[in-house]
Amino acid sequence: MKQIVLAGAIMMVSLSAAQSNPPLPPHNPLRQDAAQEAESLPPMPRRKPEHENGAEADADAEKLPPLPRSKPERDPPETAIPAQPLNEPCGGALKDFTIVAERLAPIEDGECGREEVLSVTAVGTDTAVPFAAPATLSCNMAISMAKWIGEAVIPAARKHLGTDIAEIPAGTSYACRNRNNQADAKLSEHAFANAYDLSGFKLADGKHINVAAYEDGTPQAEFMAEIRAAACGPFTTVLGPGTNKYHDDHFHLDTAERRNPYCQ
Ligand SMILES: [Zn+2]
Repeated sequence: MKQIVLAGAIMMVSLSAAQSNPPLPPHNPLRQDAAQEAESLPPMPRRKPEHENGAEADADAEKLPPLPRSKPERDPPETAIPAQPLNEPCGGALKDFTIVAERLAPIEDGECGREEVLSVTAVGTDTAVPFAAPATLSCNMAISMAKWIGEAVIPAARKHLGTDIAEIPAGTSYACRNRNNQADAKLSEHAFANAYDLSGFKLADGKHINVAAYEDGTPQAEFMAEIRAAACGPFTTVLGPGTNKYHDDHFHLDTAERRNPYCQ
């Protein structure tokens, strides 16, 4: 998972480098020349940075002295578009959801940590449900939480419990530890900000529903079964009551990189 995020970052950087070349940033005098020259030439496919015209434009620019730029207003619409994703977390992927988050500094903690990490305070699709305490999550986790809460949990709460979800109680997100806190186990996905332990929900009617094994046929049991099944997909690991003794009172949700989801 860490490698996927790194690959994404590398892709983002190389994409932006390619896109600024030949659509050219206004602060580089050599490249401004190339842009001016390009304007006097037949229309070029300026949005296809891999085109060999890009290399030619750069080579020509090196032979010419810098000229003052007289029409700076012609470049910003092109440079502004590729510039935006660099400043947005998760390569802009959060925009498809309602996610309230801010990007944190990379976490580097021995074997634990993550380069791109968010402090997430609310997630959803149309509306966002707040976390009682900010969750430190990877981009994939923030997106999966938003999708699951918005598309599955809120509708299931309305259907089975007759109310909305008001808040996600504080739960473990990033933690530099092994699976199930066992000394001889592998590092947990929590160690990569790639997991959340969810203990239940605060409901809009003022009640709480805890993650637990409920008697079959009750609205609580049906709600739990529906949201647990729906979690398998957005999350690649879903553990909870009945999985083992470590998960009787919460769902462990993560987005570990797996060929097939592991949902028990
Ligand atoms: Zn967990």
